[in-house]
Amino acid sequence: MDTALTIAGQGSPDSVSMPADRALGGVEPRFEGLYLHVPFCFHKCHYCDFYSFVDREDRQDAYAARIDAELATMSRFVHAPLRTVFVGGGTPTLLRPDVLRRTLESVRTRVPLAAGAEWTVEANPETVTAEVAAVLVASGVNRVSLGAQSFHERHLKTLERWHDPASVARAVGILRDAGIGRVNLDLIFGIPGETLAEWEADLRAVLALGTDHLSCYGLTYEANTAMTVRMERGEFEPCDDGLEASMLERAAAILRDAGFAHYEVSNWARVKDGDPHAEECRHNMLYWRNRDWLAIGPSASGHAQGVRWKNVPRLGDWLAAEGASPAVDVEHATPDMRAGERLMMGLRLRAGLPLAEVDEILSLGAEGAARARAIHAAVEEGMMERADGALRFTERGMMLANMVLAKLV
Ligand code: SF4
Repeated sequence: MDTALTIAGQGSPDSVSMPADRALGGVEPRFEGLYLHVPFCFHKCHYCDFYSFVDREDRQDAYAARIDAELATMSRFVHAPLRTVFVGGGTPTLLRPDVLRRTLESVRTRVPLAAGAEWTVEANPETVTAEVAAVLVASGVNRVSLGAQSFHERHLKTLERWHDPASVARAVGILRDAGIGRVNLDLIFGIPGETLAEWEADLRAVLALGTDHLSCYGLTYEANTAMTVRMERGEFEPCDDGLEASMLERAAAILRDAGFAHYEVSNWARVKDGDPHAEECRHNMLYWRNRDWLAIGPSASGHAQGVRWKNVPRLGDWLAAEGASPAVDVEHATPDMRAGERLMMGLRLRAGLPLAEVDEILSLGAEGAARARAIHAAVEEGMMERADGALRFTERGMMLANMVLAKLV
């Protein structure tokens, strides 16, 4: 459920598998954050292509021990206190409370964390209990990202999500009572059969909960998911593109009126005391700014100075290893690939990219010239603008950003 998982593998990965610490040989990582993957879920949702599987509770203790060993090995690459930690999955809060405590404690004791570091844990609403919330707080977690997805039972059923809509408010209440003020809610739009009115109701339901951050993702049909197979069999019609665009437009309008800044294509943060950045997800900012983050746990993807790698996405192989995880999809980005990544990720932010950096990227060979033409066309069409010393999407362009970005890489 994490953006980082979708980044690696866009270039030409080396086919060889090697330990993650060897993959980092030759570069001086400047890790600012840590992503830790928990692969266990209660149930496999039909649209999900993340590395997760149904938990049988028989490997949780081994998982926690292995996380500790991996952190012990990889911490030697951490040279400065980390500013962010993101524990994603899967469903991290499905770990037994004692295993969750051990896992979080390994993070706290194995790597240095900066004072005031942002520490997020992903949770499904139905797994949030007072006991889990107490473990999170005691461990130093200060932000939770909740997968609400929809407040309509029939749409949750379509997605095969197993929580009921009321559990979202219950979870937010438990987290707040425990002292976790920063809560993100994830919503999905464009679910088959969903109406614009239902989507608006979802947005209003989130606003009623008073949370400060919201991620809205259009439903995508990834290869080999149960949802995609059902669609291909003709069991349902996917949401119409025009309706999906209207949904995104309504989200932008409703959230703007409610005092949120649309700071990334799929993300909104509440403006606090005039500060539009206060509630942004600092960890995801590392991805969008192409900074370095460490990856821990099976299938977690990391980045260091142009080297991307993914820990082996097979629990058995990951558990059997010692020290660093075996890494797959190790990729040493060429300058051109790095430029493409920088454009693709940086332009996802409403703030855009500094013009000087854009000029440098566009001066790179034939790819640069093609990108310059695509950007020129986007500016002519009113999708992008050069403003405040940056190249960025216009408000209208943010609605179609994924399409425009596809032309740039
Ligand atoms: S809870 Fe999240 S990670 Fe787990 S199966 Fe569902 S969508 Fe995938």
